[in-house]
Amino acid sequence: MTQIAELLAANEGYVAALAKVSDARPSRQLAIVTCMDARIDVFAALGLRLGEAHVLRNAGGRVTHDVLRSLALSAHVLGVETVVIMQHTKCGLTGVTDEDLRRLTGADLGFIPIDDHAAALREDIQLLAETPYLHPLAVIAGFVYDVETGEIDDVVRWERPTG
Ligand SMILES: [Zn+2]
Repeated sequence: MTQIAELLAANEGYVAALAKVSDARPSRQLAIVTCMDARIDVFAALGLRLGEAHVLRNAGGRVTHDVLRSLALSAHVLGVETVVIMQHTKCGLTGVTDEDLRRLTGADLGFIPIDDHAAALREDIQLLAETPYLHPLAVIAGFVYDVETGEIDDVVRWERPTG
């Protein structure tokens, strides 16, 4: 229980210093989809502040059914127009196969491993761009974050054609 007690103790300090943001709509009309990797501080790496962006995290930062569900709400209910998908170097989903991960976990799931960052980003961006209910999204970018240097490689860009 030490873990949980530490979290609750930290929260007491946080409450005192809390920056209050009343509007649930991200003020920069922005959503970031990225990996759950513990080495990525999304807000610091991208210069974001509380209230500015939705941050959707999962293994690999891949566009899953649940990411589509969340972005449908981001786009239609909460005003999001720009999405950044940010994968990263040394990700646990690179260099493995679905079969490897099924064997390791005993879970029969589609883990969406990453063979090649550029190809995976293009695939996920295409999926977002072609999803009819995500038409409010105007700009999508695909980044790769280097977990050793903190640098971002700006790999893929998409803008919705006008007219
Ligand atoms: Zn990762």
